[in-house]
This record gives sequence, C-alpha cells and structure tokens, in this order.
Amino acid sequence: MIDSLPPLREVIRTHDLRAKKSFGQNFLLDLNLTARIARAAGDLHGADVFEVGPGPGGLTRGLLAEGARHVLAVEKDPRCRPALDQIAAAYPGRLTVVEGDALALDPMAHLTPPVKVVANLPYNVGTELLIRWMTPRAWPPFWESLTLMFQQEVAERIVARPGSKAYGRLALMVQWRAEARVVLTLPPEAFTPPPKVRSAVVQITALPAPRFPADARVLERVVAAAFNQRRKMLRAALKGLAPGIEAHLEAAGIPPTARAEEVGLEAYCILACRLAPPAAPG
Ligand code: SAM
Repeated sequence: MIDSLPPLREVIRTHDLRAKKSFGQNFLLDLNLTARIARAAGDLHGADVFEVGPGPGGLTRGLLAEGARHVLAVEKDPRCRPALDQIAAAYPGRLTVVEGDALALDPMAHLTPPVKVVANLPYNVGTELLIRWMTPRAWPPFWESLTLMFQQEVAERIVARPGSKAYGRLALMVQWRAEARVVLTLPPEAFTPPPKVRSAVVQITALPAPRFPADARVLERVVAAAFNQRRKMLRAALKGLAPGIEAHLEAAGIPPTARAEEVGLEAYCILACRLAPPAAPG
C-alpha cells in the first residue's frame, strides 16, 4: 500500500462514484500503477504538480506518495470532491483541489515553478489541452514536463517520425520545442470501466528553446496547410500561403513534388523562416 487511505474500490463505493461517460471517466484503481505513472514524471520532490481530472484520486495519491511538493488538482465532477478532500486531509498543505473545468483555469495562479503536469486525461479534452500547453505565447512554457495518458493512437501521433502514417501536425508541434517519448502502454483492462482502445503514457520534456528558429504562428500555418491536404504535392497544398511557393520550397531544400509526411521538422522551419523571419527574442 502506498498510503493509509482506503483502497480505491472502497472509495468508489463509499462515494458512489460510478464512472460517467459524459465526463470521459475511466478510472485507474491500481495504486501501484498510479505510483508508476507518477515516477515516470521524474523526481517530484521540489516540484509542484498540476493534475487535470483526478477523479477518485488514484493518480493524485501516487503523486503525493512519490513526494510532490504540492499538487493542484482540477476536477469537473463535483461527486469526486469528498474523496479528494479526504486525500488533502491525509497530506496536509500539499493538495489543492479546484472544482471546475481545466480549460477555464489559470494553473499558475496556484503553482510555484518548477511545475510538472501529470494527468490521466479525459479523452474528450486531452488533445485540446496538449495543443494549448504546446502553444504558449512565450517559450519556455510554465511547465517543465508533461506526463500524460492518451489513447495509444494519439500517443503515436505525438512521437511519430517523418514518413509514417501517424506523422503530422501534432508530432511537429510537440517535437519542435520538446522531447517526446512513450514511457508506458496500458491495456483497456487497466481502467474501470475499460475503454475500447489501448492507452499510452507520453513523457514530454520542454526544451529551453526550439530546435530550429521559426515564428510559431507561421510554422503552425505552414504545417496545417501541408497536412490538411496530405495527399497532395506540397506545391499544390501550400499554393495559397505565398506567391511563388515552388521557389520557396526549393530554397528550403524541399522538392515541390514532395508530400507533407515526407518532410522533416528542420525543412518546415526553414520554409517558415523564408515566408516570415522569426521576431527577435525579447
Ligand atoms: N485521474 C483519474 C484516474 O486516473 O483514475 C481519473 C481519470 S478520467 C480518464 C478523467 C477525469 O477527468 C474524470 O474524473 C473527469 O471527471 C475529469 N474531467 C473531464 N473533463 C474535465 C475538465 N474539462 N476539467 C477537469 N476535469 C475533467
């Protein structure tokens, strides 16, 4: 046992926390597994953790037992509150529970750097949150790492390399400014109730600066245009971005007949810089 609190099945029974589909609820009830996910986030001593969707608190307990200095947990389902308050009482001063929508919360109003984000995300808002965390106004972002559970198919899109089917906007947006790897895959039976598909935990570590210079908005526009029509040759897919796109592609070392998935991150950054040089930092 990782703590002296009741087993999670008992917590669920006591507080009648039957999983609701509308909240995207698939709970992790094995505390050894939640402690393992917490450890995947690295050393938590001396770090604040932002957790989205603690539910009955299995991962929250893992994070606290693994030494997180302070956990901010935001949960939309008010039924979870009593179970989370019980955890807060067992770890005095180390857990703040906010009832509400993670999409509407400014976590830095409650946290002190360094901050790690660790979450078994609700699938319906997972990608939206990831894109938000990857596209702040300034880099480095408020977090130093993201340790996130996704459907395996989404995890594969995050870590995908050029030439693969899964390679696209998500891979480029994440890998431009962060290191991303899959650290754990889980079968449906690890969850209650089991989802239809396998899941995977992705560890994303922010780089101090982007791998290659580019203006974030221009790079996003180029990549979006390229992959929106991923079967087309880039000279056609990117035609609307700038006059004389073929010459820009060639100058960036990209054959105008190439398709979006054949082009690596550096070449997209060079192309973005040709279309609009990045503003000087500061
Ligand atoms: N972390 C828990 C676990 O591992 O057992 C629960 C994971 S469950 C997949 C996702 C949790 O996110 C649910 O408890 C759900 O109520 C909560 N949730 C869904 N949408 C949310 C939102 N927009 N903001 C905050 N929490 C949300």
